Amino acid sequence: MQRIALARRPSGDPVPDDFELKTETAAEPTPGEVLVEVTHFSLDPYMRGRMDDAKSYAEPVPIGGTMTAQGVGRVIKSNADGFSEGDMVTGMTGWASHAVMTAEGATRIPEGVPPTAVLGVLGMPGFTGWYGLNDLGRPKSGETLVVAAATGPVGSMVGQLAKAHGLRTVAIAGGAEKCKMAEELYGFDAAIDHRAHDDASSLRKALAEAAPDGIDIYFENVGGKVLEAVIPLMNTFGRIPVCGMVAWYGGVEDASDRLPMLWRSVLVKRMAVTGFIIADHWDRFGDFQKDVAPRVMNDEIAWREDIAEGLENAPQTFIEMLKGGNTGKQIMKVI
Ligand code: NDP
Repeated sequence: MQRIALARRPSGDPVPDDFELKTETAAEPTPGEVLVEVTHFSLDPYMRGRMDDAKSYAEPVPIGGTMTAQGVGRVIKSNADGFSEGDMVTGMTGWASHAVMTAEGATRIPEGVPPTAVLGVLGMPGFTGWYGLNDLGRPKSGETLVVAAATGPVGSMVGQLAKAHGLRTVAIAGGAEKCKMAEELYGFDAAIDHRAHDDASSLRKALAEAAPDGIDIYFENVGGKVLEAVIPLMNTFGRIPVCGMVAWYGGVEDASDRLPMLWRSVLVKRMAVTGFIIADHWDRFGDFQKDVAPRVMNDEIAWREDIAEGLENAPQTFIEMLKGGNTGKQIMKVI
């Protein structure tokens, strides 16, 4: 079997030498376990955080340990009741060609569901958008929502659900192609290319035009220049579900002078700024599936995948995804 291990902790943005491809003998499944041949695994921005040795909501990947990932694959040896060879399952496979999973850690992929959908639109990222928007954003018809990384699996779910709730939806995305996709595929009312604006004030001007009634919900995926542009446009009693800040995952430029502006806005506008980690909310996953799966199956909710091939290419694909190299949910195809 082959796996991608963490070779060293990155300083700033990750580089290829932070990872190492290792070839080893696959472990045998003990009673209650299955051996899975991994066909695909997910690359997600949260994995950057797991490379640091910092105190966080999850343990870091140890040096030499396999990079964390949810994957899908086929059972090739079963030592667990309820699983047979050939079953398609999903679970935490890591960046690897094979994985041993416990029966509790392996979930069978239902018939008729495209296996990779459980890594994106019908899995953790889609659920994150659904939960953050509905439970923390509390959308109301006629309001305005802004989301960045708008063509990714989280942002595209947020935009489409908000539109269905009757909100005006404004996408922020990197480049003309992604902006076009945001409007045409995901139905955003407007899309702004953050790369076409050198600073927050220029971006803010464009946002003010796209959101003439101000912003009621800013679904926070990126931080950086976008956050700085958005804050002064937030309406009183606005909501900011804080989901991610991918612009700062590789480190933070000195933002300290902007802190008072940010904090004052939260106070005077009585904003609800709520950080959340989706792993705390699995009790809502069934509700998400009930609501969203039928809408995905009948094409009411659009979704796109960006499938890169070859385990050995995972590090470079991951590095590029963090900078916007992906168009759609980033997935690695192993076999
Ligand atoms: P995406 O597939 O959308 O990939 C990340 C995207 O971020 C890139 O494609 C790029 O899009 C955008 N981006 C990167 N750098 C910048 C920047 N400096 N300014 C603006 N945009 C930037 O990711 P996901 O949909 O999987 O995740 C979106 C966010 O949700 C991430 O922050 C992630 O960490 C977070 N998340 C949080 C969870 C939680 O439990 N809180 C769970 C799951 C995800 P573009 O080219 O359009 O700029």
